[in-house]
Parts: sequence; C-alpha cells; structure tokens
Amino acid sequence: MPKDYYEILGVSRNATREEIRKAYKTLAKKYHPDLNKSPEATEKFKEINEAASVLGDEKKREMYERHGTTAEGFNAGEGGFGFTDFTGADFGFEFGDIFDRFFGTEFRGDARKRGADLRHDVELTLEEVHSGTARKINVPRTERCEKCHGTGAETKSDIKKCPDCNGTGFIRRTQRIAFGTFTSTAPCGKCSGRGTVITSSCRECRGRGLIARNREIEVKIPAGITDGSRLRVQGGGDAGDIPGNLYIFIHIKPHITFERDGADLLIEVPISYTLAALGGEIEIPTLNGKATLTIQAGTQPDTVFRMKGKGLPDMETGHTGDQKVKVMVKIPAKLTKRQRELLEQLAKEDKKGFLGGMF
Ligand SMILES: [Zn+2]
Ligand SMILES: [Zn+2]
Repeated sequence: MPKDYYEILGVSRNATREEIRKAYKTLAKKYHPDLNKSPEATEKFKEINEAASVLGDEKKREMYERHGTTAEGFNAGEGGFGFTDFTGADFGFEFGDIFDRFFGTEFRGDARKRGADLRHDVELTLEEVHSGTARKINVPRTERCEKCHGTGAETKSDIKKCPDCNGTGFIRRTQRIAFGTFTSTAPCGKCSGRGTVITSSCRECRGRGLIARNREIEVKIPAGITDGSRLRVQGGGDAGDIPGNLYIFIHIKPHITFERDGADLLIEVPISYTLAALGGEIEIPTLNGKATLTIQAGTQPDTVFRMKGKGLPDMETGHTGDQKVKVMVKIPAKLTKRQRELLEQLAKEDKKGFLGGMF
C-alpha cells in the first residue's frame, strides 16, 4: 500500500509549499526523538521526514501525484535522504539545514535551481477587452529534458549515490573544541548537494537536464482587463526544481472611436442641428454592434447621454459600465439654396427661434 504523505503531514492535496513546510516543522518538533521519548516517536519521525522529503520537493511531489507512489525513480527515506542518522544529538543544530534541503535550493547544482520568470507582452484591442479572449503565445523557455526526466543521466543506472557524502548531499564535520565537539554541515562539493553523481550524461541535454524549447501556451484573458495589468501563469517560466512563472503584460491599443474611462466608454457623435432641435433616434456604434439612442427634442450641444450597460465589464465589481455619448451639434458650413431659403423664412417667422442670433 502506498503511503498517503498528505495524510501523514495532515495537509490538503493542494497545500502550498509553505503550508507543507509549516506542517512538517510542527510535526518534526513534536516527534523528534530527542524531544519525544515515546516508542512510536522514532517511527513517526521517520515517516514525517519521508513525507516532507517528497511533498517538499516539486519534482518528487509531481511524480508521487502522477504515480501514487515514490517507488519509481527515487526512494525517499533511503539512499538520497540521509535520515537514518537523525538520532545524533546534534540534530537540533542542523534543523535549519534540513529545511533548506527540503524547501530551498541553496544546496542544489546549477541547472536544478528555481527556473527564471519570463515575461511576454500582449497587445489587446478594446473589442477583446470587452469580450475577453484567449491568446496563443509562443514562449521560448527551458524545459525539463524529456529523455532523462531532468536527471541529466543517460540511463537510470547512471545515477549513482555520491560516494563523498554517501548520498546525503552534505558533509558533516565534527571538530573537537575546548568544551566538547562542534558539528557543522556543508554542502557536498562533489555532488553540489544533490546526493547523486552521474556517470554518463544524457546525450539529449548533455547532462543539463534542461533543453531550450519554443512552447505554445494558451492564455485566457478575462474581459475588462486594464492596461498595464499583469497575468501570472504559474509554472509557465523556465523549468527548475521550482519552475519559474510566466508573466503576461497587458497593453491595450488606443481605439479609433472609443475612449476608455474605467468601465465606461466615451464616444463623441456628431448630430445635425435639426435632430438636436426636433429630437429623434440615431444609431450609435458600440463595441458589439450598433445600438439605438433617443435624442430628445431641444438637446443642447455637448450633452452627454448614458447608454446603460454598454460599457466594459468591471473585473472587481462584476458590473458592466456604461457607454457615454457626447453629442456634437453640427452647424452646416454650406447651405443649399433651398436650405437657405427655409432658414431665412424660419428666422423671420420666429425672431426668438431656436437658431435666433446665429444668423
Ligand atoms: Zn536529458
Ligand atoms: Zn555528495
């Protein structure tokens, strides 16, 4: 029966690294054989260490989740992790080092560190902001070599326990000092703290465990996104013990017709002086097709009409903004003979008429 490491640490399946680290720290203190003298403590402590060594390591956790066991490819608690000698009285002194080994990258070799974060810039139209969109982007990044699964070894049997540190990844030195002994640990120089050495390098990646690749990634861009926003694609960056993230920087192209004001849209629409005076309906462009706007009789120049719900979705509130329409009343620069006659007649008819004084 494979062990349930999540259950052992008492964390949920989607626990973050930090939650795992906390759970481990609490349990390790509780069952540390130096602090807990009950007969089960030793066994329990071993189990906790084994669970943390798997769940605390992104690569091992992934494999554990995929196969439900750690039997394939590595064997936690034995070999690679030197936890059989924890009974040494100096363990407390090393506590920090062991956390680093699980949860940090300090001891790791070059290609095994945290992968770099990557940036990709995306330009959107206002129409895309309105509807939301998905973009396929091409990201040049480093990925784990598929042939060696990132180990850098040609075959599994080319991965050997490091002879210098006996697979622990660190070298322990005990010095005699005036008051007794002083034990310190340092990462193993031969294996850079990995605990393993490779006797024949993978030919695909030349032992780096990583290869350069152009990866097509589909990014969903939510409606209503604002200019300058940054979307994070967790683990979308360069591969590593902890993969880096991919950050999508959003730029919104200026629109020829609309101006954005938060979730509202602004548009200026020219209307004739007769429409302004008499009122009527006009078609107004919106980001999804045309809509009808009613102009009341006697509308003044620069009046702003509000078309409810014709703006952009607001990502924070979930509401949709309005489209604000500013009407620009146009006075004709040229009149036909007939128009001129009619206007002159109108001016005579009503000296206080709506165009009074303009002519
Ligand atoms: Zn490889
Ligand atoms: Zn070593």
